[in-house]
Amino acid sequence: MTTPVLRPAPSTEAEDAPVLPASIREAIVRHAVACYPLEACGLIVADTEGNLRMAYPLTNAEASPTRFTLDAREHFGAVCHAESRGWDIAGVFHSHPAGSAVPSATDIAQVHPADWVHFVVGLRPSVQLKAWRLADGTARELRLLESE
Ligand SMILES: [Zn+2]
Repeated sequence: MTTPVLRPAPSTEAEDAPVLPASIREAIVRHAVACYPLEACGLIVADTEGNLRMAYPLTNAEASPTRFTLDAREHFGAVCHAESRGWDIAGVFHSHPAGSAVPSATDIAQVHPADWVHFVVGLRPSVQLKAWRLADGTARELRLLESE
């Protein structure tokens, strides 16, 4: 005899991304534009309450227009800086120099911690920023709220 396991019903509610301060949005977009025509990338950190605190613009170790890998040394430096302030890595951002802010198949296949928020900057046809949850081979767009 098996005991039924109760699971919460799947939610149909859209999930909210952490509120994105304008200063962090600007840092992400500025890095995306500065790295054009290559993909830009970096990390986003949050405090213990989940408030986004800063973006670390990092070097794309692949120096590619279609792929990114966070530079390992800079990644480590960002983690050390964040930890010294009691912050945690909350997510990652990267740009699509020739495309929209929708994750590519490559993005979805990349392995990152499941609780990270993925910010994608699309530069074509115009600058846009979207937040995603990438897990189990799927991409789910998060509701993105911005603050001043
Ligand atoms: Zn991408």
